[in-house]
Amino acid sequence: MTIKILEGTIDNHIHCCPHINKRSTDIFEVIKKAEQNRMYAIGLMDNFSNTSGYASLVKKSFPKLKLKVFGGLIMEPPSGGVNFENAKIALNYSYFNNDGAKFISFPTHHTRHIAKLEKRKKNYIKNCFYVPDKGPTLETIKILKLIAQKNIVLNTGHLSARETINLIKCAKKNGVKKILVPSNTFNLNTITELKKYNVKFEFSYFFISKATDIPLTHVDGEKHKIQGTNEKLLKILIKTAGPKNVILSSDCGVSILPKPHIGFSKFINHIQKLGFSKKEIEYMIKINSKELFNLK
Ligand SMILES: [Zn+2]
Repeated sequence: MTIKILEGTIDNHIHCCPHINKRSTDIFEVIKKAEQNRMYAIGLMDNFSNTSGYASLVKKSFPKLKLKVFGGLIMEPPSGGVNFENAKIALNYSYFNNDGAKFISFPTHHTRHIAKLEKRKKNYIKNCFYVPDKGPTLETIKILKLIAQKNIVLNTGHLSARETINLIKCAKKNGVKKILVPSNTFNLNTITELKKYNVKFEFSYFFISKATDIPLTHVDGEKHKIQGTNEKLLKILIKTAGPKNVILSSDCGVSILPKPHIGFSKFINHIQKLGFSKKEIEYMIKINSKELFNLK
């Protein structure tokens, strides 16, 4: 049985790669399910390595696959950190020419913002990435220029609202055109402020799911809860951002959540029930990702 609602959709945020905690699935099963359900594309996310290599392997191994599979780099320490050379390599890490990372993300867990929320030790926090008030470091600016040159997606990662705005200002100044902001935990004021910069806002199933009630290991041995949101607030945030600027994703892969294609379809159902129109939902699950990640 296929899930009708998934046809033609894109889930840009699936954690099905090898991990240090248990997964609900693996890359091959995710691809099989997505293809069966006639999804248009999926994006692989991994806090431990650049996923453009996995995506490329899939493309080479299954030439008849209709589904588009893409990857990119989250600049967490295990995958090389916030480092220009690391980002540069990711851009061409593929079996094919002119292929490679479709996005470069700033860290998701090793940021001072998240480390403080997780009440990590002082020394740990000190070593995490942050955006200084006076603006990003030269290394960060070099990476932003690289993203601009390749015209791929800058994902702002999990920074504070203030840092996110600072990073975006600098990215714009350096020619970055495609910006995706994980916005699950931002408030109305931040969303309103961010709208000025013509970014795309990402909201994920993970943050309204039970996964936010359970402490989990995300990047190392320590277990932490992730701050969630609720559907009422989510509706207001999406309305404020505007569906034409919103991308919905599952952020599934962790063992305690449904398999990604199920999680994504549940999320779409929730969003439908919140009263968004068919066209608005199309922007959020088909049109915007296709354009942003250049998947035509
Ligand atoms: Zn994620």
